[in-house]
Amino acid sequence: MVDIVVMRAVTSDNQAHADKVRAMLDEKNVIGLNIISSPGAGKTTLLERTIVDNPDLRFGVIEGDVFTGRDASRIEAAGAPSIQLNTEGACHLTANMIETVLPRLRLDELDFVVVENIGNLICPAAFALGEHRRVVLLSTPEGSDKVQKYPHAFNTADLVLVTKTDVAGAVGFELSIVLEDLKAVNPKVEPLLLSAVSGEGLDRWYGWLRSLRR
Ligand code: MG
Ligand code: ZN
Repeated sequence: MVDIVVMRAVTSDNQAHADKVRAMLDEKNVIGLNIISSPGAGKTTLLERTIVDNPDLRFGVIEGDVFTGRDASRIEAAGAPSIQLNTEGACHLTANMIETVLPRLRLDELDFVVVENIGNLICPAAFALGEHRRVVLLSTPEGSDKVQKYPHAFNTADLVLVTKTDVAGAVGFELSIVLEDLKAVNPKVEPLLLSAVSGEGLDRWYGWLRSLRR
């Protein structure tokens, strides 16, 4: 039997920074999104496609990664301003990080600030970043049991995107299990099914984004 250490995240100070971030966004009528998923669920790919397909929506992106500037480079290549946050080991972003880098984006020229969190379904869910909406991705190759295994990530989601539907059959993904688990964990969200490769479901995702625009 292994020893299990249970630690509580200290979120009081984080909430104060999150409130400041929210105020900075609200002042400029910018919508803040916090994108959470496992590594490799397709966050950056979906953002690239979203930026390219919606030239009239002005996105700025804050890329969270443990190391490298890879994803920010991809976002810039897609045509949106981007800032890379490297945590050098830390497995989630905190609101003070966003507060620090947000002034580097020209908020006057943006409709959305999208934060791509560190790929991890555990602790990012515990740290508000000042976002208006939280979007959680679940890719079909990860398996159908992830909602049950990481309930907190899905419990705090405003939108769940099931990504990589183009390979769902090949990897044996069972949507009915995800739907049932979501009903138990977060009955108010209906997942959107999409694929940035085939294009399935992207119109609904874009429609959701447009419904938020101020
Ligand atoms: Mg990424
Ligand atoms: Zn963490």
